[in-house]
Amino acid sequence: MALFAATTDGECVAPLNALKRQQKYLKRVQRSVSRKVKGSNNRRKAIERLGRVHAQIAAQRSDWLHKQTTRWANEHPVIAIEDLKVAAMSASAKGTATEPGKRVRQKAGLNRAILDQAWGEARRQLDYKTAARGGAVVPVDPAYTSQRCSACGHTAKDNRPTQARFECEACGHSENADLNAAKNILAAGHAVWVARPEACGAEVRRAGPERGRRAAARKQEPAEGSAAQAIGSVGIPAL
Ligand SMILES: [Zn+2]
Repeated sequence: MALFAATTDGECVAPLNALKRQQKYLKRVQRSVSRKVKGSNNRRKAIERLGRVHAQIAAQRSDWLHKQTTRWANEHPVIAIEDLKVAAMSASAKGTATEPGKRVRQKAGLNRAILDQAWGEARRQLDYKTAARGGAVVPVDPAYTSQRCSACGHTAKDNRPTQARFECEACGHSENADLNAAKNILAAGHAVWVARPEACGAEVRRAGPERGRRAAARKQEPAEGSAAQAIGSVGIPAL
């Protein structure tokens, strides 16, 4: 099953499940519209009902996403995530030749599109929610994050015997594949975060309102040595 996110906190977030139920209901309402006589009062009522269902689904999806991103931003003002644009490019280059059947491929494509769309929105929310807390989203190139061992760094395709499992050929480190990938994303994001110019005593601009904000950013910065724990990582496993 596709995950919405896996984090270094060991959290595996499934996509909004309620959606499946609602989509069945949505289809029923859509069918009822198409069965009604055009121009009739009943058809107008059915169309109104369809609009309400659409709005309800959108509201629930939005509510769910906001809850996730607010919680993440509260727990980790600095969040490393896979850079979706890069991921999408490498995925399309690879193609989907290994998918068993056309139907499956189309379905995976649709699920992927929904997930990607939700992730685009999650990213937008995380950007402003972390910024409001003095942090940031640190995008990371997802290349090899699922093949690299988070314990020793050995990178090989065979490290991942199954979709779910990571087993390092070199050191024997074994764990959930998504969690291993999330740890790699965190490590890469952490490297970017501590290397940014503001992190090493660059002069803080004295421009009015920004000053307080930067002070807050410094205040929330973790003390040396504990920096890694302060960065949460949210990764998207391959579908
Ligand atoms: Zn290893």
